[in-house]
Order: sequence, then C-alpha cells, then structure tokens
Amino acid sequence: MTFDVDLFVIGGGSGGVRAARIAAGHGASVMIAEEYRMGGTCVIRGCVPKKLYVYAGRFADDFAEAAGFGWTFAQKPVFHWPTLVAAKEKEISRLSQIYGVNLAKAGVTIVESRAEILDPHTVLLKADGRRIRAKKILVATGGTPVLEPAIPGVEHAISSNELFDLPEFPGRLLVVGAGYIAVEFASLFARLGAKVALVFRGENVLRGFDEDLREGLRVELAHAGIEIMPATLPVNIEKQADGLAVTLSNGETHLFDQILLATGRRPHTKGLGLEQAGVALDHAGAIKVDALSCTNVPSIFAVGDVTNRVNLTPVAIREGHAFADTQFGGKEVVVTHADIPTAVFTTPEIGTVGLTEQDARKAFDIVDVYQASFRPMKGTLSGSPEKTLMKIIVDGLTDQVLGVHILGHEAGEMAQLLGIAVKLRATKADFDATMAVHPTAAEELVTMRTRSARYLRDTLDAGPGSAVSEV
Ligand code: FAD
Ligand code: NDP
Repeated sequence: MTFDVDLFVIGGGSGGVRAARIAAGHGASVMIAEEYRMGGTCVIRGCVPKKLYVYAGRFADDFAEAAGFGWTFAQKPVFHWPTLVAAKEKEISRLSQIYGVNLAKAGVTIVESRAEILDPHTVLLKADGRRIRAKKILVATGGTPVLEPAIPGVEHAISSNELFDLPEFPGRLLVVGAGYIAVEFASLFARLGAKVALVFRGENVLRGFDEDLREGLRVELAHAGIEIMPATLPVNIEKQADGLAVTLSNGETHLFDQILLATGRRPHTKGLGLEQAGVALDHAGAIKVDALSCTNVPSIFAVGDVTNRVNLTPVAIREGHAFADTQFGGKEVVVTHADIPTAVFTTPEIGTVGLTEQDARKAFDIVDVYQASFRPMKGTLSGSPEKTLMKIIVDGLTDQVLGVHILGHEAGEMAQLLGIAVKLRATKADFDATMAVHPTAAEELVTMRTRSARYLRDTLDAGPGSAVSEV
C-alpha cells in the first residue's frame, strides 16, 4: 500500500503541533491540518489570552494597594478594553505564526483546512476536497465548550471562546459554573471593573479541589465584590432593550450585558468521521485510547483534550511528544497522569499538586495535615485583607508528602516546583531540612513544624468525610 504521508495530524493545537514537529524530527513525512488558527485553544482562546487578561486585572489591585506604600495618583487609573483586546490579538498572532514557522522548519506540511477521516488511512481536506492517504492518523482536535443548561434564551449566552473579543466591555457579567473557567473569568472581570455574579449548581466553587482552598477562594472572590450564588442556575434568558434579563432558579430576575456559560467542555469528536473508521468513543464522546494513545483502530491515534484524560496544555504536549517518540522515534514512552501540578489563575491563585486532604484520608491509614493561614507581608502596609493558605498532606506512616495545596499570590509558580518534590516522593522531613528563602511566602512550606491534625482512615462504614478520628 502506498501513502502520501507517514503521519497526518488533525488539529494544530498543543498536542497536535508537538506530535507533528517531533515526528518530522524523527524523519517521518508529516502533514497537519488546522481549521481555525494554528496554536489551538491554549494559544488562541485559552491559557495565553486568559493569563494576559489576568495580568490586566491585577493592576487594579496594585493601584488600590499602592497608597499604603506612599503612592498617590494625580488621576484615577482608567481601563480601556479595546486596547487590551488589540494587544492580546497582536501577541497571539505572533505566537500562532511562530508555531507555523517552527512546523515548516521541521519539514511539516501545513494545510489550513478542516480534515475528516474517510477510512483508517484516508483523510479528506474540506478546503479543496483532496484525499490524503496516511500510514498513521493522529486525532488532536481538542474540546469545545458545552452550552448548558439548555434553557430558553440560551442563544443569547456566550462561551469563553467569544468573551475574549467582545466589542464592548461587559459591565454586568453573569458567570454560570464553578470550574476553572468560571472562577478565573469571574475573578479577572471583577478586577477589570465589571459587576460580576457567579451562579452554580453545587454548594461551593471548584469541586474536587481541597475543601479548605475551595472555601478560602470563595471568601476571596466575595472580597473582590463578586456576588456568589451557590445552588442557583439561570432558568430563562430574555433579550431586552437595556440588557439580558436573566431569571434565576431562586425566582430573582437580574439584568446583564453578557452571560458566560462556563459549564465544561466536551471532546471535539462530532462529524470527524470517527464512526465510519470504526474508532471507539466513551460515554462522553471522548476517543478511547490506551497508555500509548492508540485507539482500537491500529492506524489511528489520539492525544490531548479529545481523549479527555487530563485536559491541560502540558499534558496534551507530553502525550503528543510521547506518541511521536513511540511511533516514529523507536522508543516507547508512556505518559503518567499522576501528580500533575495545576494552577487556577484567580486572584489570589490556587496552586496544587497531589492528593487533597479528603482523597488522602480515603486512601491512607494515617494522614497528617500541616496547615498555615496568614496575611502576606505586602498586605501589612497595603491593608489588603487577602489571606494566603498553605496545606501539606503527609502519609503518617511513611512521612511521604502526598499533596501540597496553596491559595495565594504566585501559587501557580510554587506548584510547579512543588511538583518536582512530590514527584521525587519527598518526605516531610525533606521539606523541613530545606533552608527557607526569607522573606517569602513560600518559606512557610519548609517551616511548618507543628502538625495541625492527624486523621485515621475514613472507613467505608463511616462514609467519606464523616466520623473521622483526629488523634
Ligand atoms: P486544542 O488546543 O483545543 O487544539 C485542537 C485544534 O484542533 C484546534 O485548533 C481546532 O481548531 C482544531 N480542529 C478541531 N477539529 C478539526 C478538524 N476537523 N480539522 C482541522 N482542525 C481541527 N490549560 C492549562 O494547562 N493552563 C491554563 O491556564 C489553561 N487555561 C485555559 C483557559 C481556557 C479559557 C480554556 C478553554 C482552556 C484552558 N486550558 C488551560 C486548557 C488547554 O487549552 C487545553 O487543555 C489544550 O489546549 C488542549 O490541547 P489539544 O491539542 O488537545 O487541543
Ligand atoms: P470544569 O469541568 O472545570 O467545570 C465545569 C463547571 O460547570 C462545574 O462547576 C460543573 O459543576 C458545571 N456544570 C457542568 N455541567 C453543568 C450543567 N449541565 N448545568 C450547570 N452546571 C454545570 O470546566 P471548565 O469549562 O471550567 O474548564 C474546562 C477544562 O479546561 C477544565 O476542566 C480544565 O481542564 C481546563 N482549564 C484549565 C485551566 C487552568 O489550567 N488554569 C483554566 C481553564 C480551563 P459541578 O462541579 O457541579 O459538576
């Protein structure tokens, strides 16, 4: 059988680009198709523009806190939304172009087109109707926002895709959801000057995160002026002359300029031709893969969000790289999905790695918790009420650090380095033996000598989280 290319990659995002470049480096002939903009979600409408907007929002805190350090401003600082949007656009265009240049340098052929699978070795390019025969196909099509709840008037709501480029700043913003995107956007838009309301179906934000951090973040979001409404969802949206009238499940009706639905993302598998090629999907529509990103069809592989393993950029990149090394580099590389550090870019940030206290208590016989809550040094003069919270979760039998959780300034930066310690299976004694860097907030991580609590394993009889012994 003859092929046009060794590898056809569908999707020019974090996973696809890395896989294409590394496979080409191993000598494979590679073609990559991108239907929107090279760089994918992270570069165009995810991590990168989001972080730029987070920086923009944090100037509001700096301006407010500067007075305590002796600064006064002749004029009140004014924020201009179109300037930020244009500056962001310039930067993501630059990055997108670099992605293209690096792929071309590696010898990868780039096609600006939607691609669909016709059979296990054939891809159709929708732009010009070409059929490309590929020895192997990698699906790296990412995810797409879920627009839920499906209520009357939902067509007036937007997803994070649209929020970045709104022609007008949304002065009144309703955010629906309590996951990463909901809390990050609520936090940053409140700082840019929007009146933000956050509604969600659960009792608190960020399900799955450490309970103390969830509660700490809820308090900080409220400090930022965000109206937080747990166990509340929109039930109807109506477009009116003066805004979008949203009726909530608690019976209240409020007016907003925009409604952000941040209720999750689903794998981008619809209409790709996966069914006709015989590729198995799971109940959520994600492509089922094994540890080497192989699907059930021998010539088809998948990496990144489309596989719904851990939906983060560094994970998609690792999976893409491992796929290329395994299939074209002659060495089998398995990506481990344990102990992945992650950050939530609210203000203050969350940085976390490893097990939460709650998960550790279900899995280990004795769990020690070291915990500190303090006002960061900057707050002493600025007057900011913001608190930093740090927790170290330790296996009481082996002294191994199982997880570290931080709510505070630059917690994401700390999580990156703590990720190394946790990966190396550092013990609490190793943390204690490490010299502090003074004066920093992070020094607290190596100076927490006194245990805050020791817990015996939750028994199944008692049920998780209940009847826990503290000894
Ligand atoms: P993507 O980056 O989504 O790339 C898939 C690409 O495939 C897209 O460019 C799409 O246009 C293209 N495509 C789809 N179908 C086709 C087709 N048929 N033909 C051709 N092209 C196609 N992660 C972090 O680690 N840190 C963060 O701070 C962070 N912030 C985020 C903020 C937001 C608002 C969002 C939405 C996500 C964020 N993420 C973050 C998640 C991160 O963006 C994703 O995990 C990552 O982009 C996944 O990479 P991927 O290669 O799997 O898919
Ligand atoms: P998440 O899965 O993080 O959160 C989804 C939220 O929507 C949850 O609060 C969930 O509630 C709620 N929800 C889900 N379905 C419904 C429904 N039908 N009605 C009402 N509420 C609903 O998704 P996001 O969209 O925030 O982000 C997608 C992914 O992108 C993240 O999981 C993460 O992997 C990645 N990301 C990473 C970032 C980072 O690294 N900093 C930043 C942004 C995104 P409940 O908790 O009750 O299920």
